[in-house]
Amino acid sequence: MELSEKCELCPRRCGADRKNGAFGFCGGGKELKIARAALHFWEEPCISGESGSGTVFFSGCTMRCIFCQNREISRGEAGKFVSVERLGEIFLELQEKGANNINLVTPMHYAPQIVSAIGIARKNGLSLPIVWNTGGWELSEKVAVVKDYADIWLTDFKYFDNNLAEKFSFAKNYFENASAALEQMVRQTGKAVFDDDGMMKKGVIVRHLMLPGHLDDTKNVLRYLYETYGDDIWISIMNQYTPLCSDERYPELLRTVSEEEYDEAVDFACELGIENAFVQEGGTVGESFIPPFDLEGV
Ligand code: SF4
Repeated sequence: MELSEKCELCPRRCGADRKNGAFGFCGGGKELKIARAALHFWEEPCISGESGSGTVFFSGCTMRCIFCQNREISRGEAGKFVSVERLGEIFLELQEKGANNINLVTPMHYAPQIVSAIGIARKNGLSLPIVWNTGGWELSEKVAVVKDYADIWLTDFKYFDNNLAEKFSFAKNYFENASAALEQMVRQTGKAVFDDDGMMKKGVIVRHLMLPGHLDDTKNVLRYLYETYGDDIWISIMNQYTPLCSDERYPELLRTVSEEEYDEAVDFACELGIENAFVQEGGTVGESFIPPFDLEGV
């Protein structure tokens, strides 16, 4: 897998000549850019465990969510350029710190370099499962290309309604791309596998961040996921939306998800029969989930 002169790594297909130093819509260029590499304790319990997930936050993003919770890095500004070899070392350092896995946050626009870094690190003793933690708007053929380097997919399914995806994330055909990518992820990993301590070793967790005022879309996402995959996947229903968006055109996004909305979504999931689910208790709204992008571990 290599960077090309006409990048088509994601559904944006912006065509940037990243091989020769241009930067794409996502902010990604020829070199890897990373904002933080550290143990992280706020993922789902089977990913973080007690000793934490070895999380690497990549700069840039192919989407442009107006409510982005990580905007400091998603716009590609924060971070430091590192070599593929250095990323391989970072993986090994996280393993030495006791990480349960290597957790690649928003990685797909750097997939060619990451695959090389994993290859180097594995030759040097990396044995942890690799988690690809993505926004879900991916090309299924690119998901297929990294299959030997991906043990766990921790993927978002943000929208059922493509109009919302265009309006809030500037992402066209979100549903078609996200559903095809998810199908490929599930095909690759099969049913989830956990170790004796309950840590996931293989599998797919689909996250859905509820948006205030869009309960119907949440229900459509949950129904689609369960009717398509049943208990082959785990579904994480998230209420931690923090109103960082100040766009007056979308007043519903200026508040948090209400307790009533979240309870109704969880009740709906139960009525559908969803058992493999993660739900969040109250008090999860805020910036506590957003770590400082201070180049720790880079
Ligand atoms: S990964 Fe980045 S550079 Fe490549 S097509 Fe997508 S937005 Fe453009």
